[in-house]
Amino acid sequence: MKKVEEILQQHSLKNTKIRQAVLGLLMQSTEGLSHQDLSKSLDMDFDRVTLFRTLHAFEENGILHKIIDLNGTAKYAYTLPQDKNTGNHSHAHFMCLNCGQVVCLDETFLLNEIKVPQGFEKKTIDVQVKGVCAKCN
Ligand SMILES: [Zn+2]
Ligand SMILES: [Zn+2]
Repeated sequence: MKKVEEILQQHSLKNTKIRQAVLGLLMQSTEGLSHQDLSKSLDMDFDRVTLFRTLHAFEENGILHKIIDLNGTAKYAYTLPQDKNTGNHSHAHFMCLNCGQVVCLDETFLLNEIKVPQGFEKKTIDVQVKGVCAKCN
């Protein structure tokens, strides 16, 4: 896996402490993390706006993707480099009905394989699998 510094450099993002910390956390995490989860895990002083801007910059650069969980909370997950070239974010997400955690799945769905009625235009695909995670089971 690539180093945090390399990824920042590759996207011409300035290497700041908060960017390093946020990306480091998300690359290590097995589940999507919300703004609040990240705030709690970050062991440093920062303001909410800085964290918000950091996440936004990562999202714009395709480093992270946002997932809306079952409660409507935005969670962020690291986007693997192989997912980037598909144009559309097409892997499925597992949502635990008990604890609410969101996990990226390897299973991918291709937008151009989905049939839509004539005259409809496909833009994005978002597949959710709901169930109970290993921790809750
Ligand atoms: Zn669970
Ligand atoms: Zn994902």
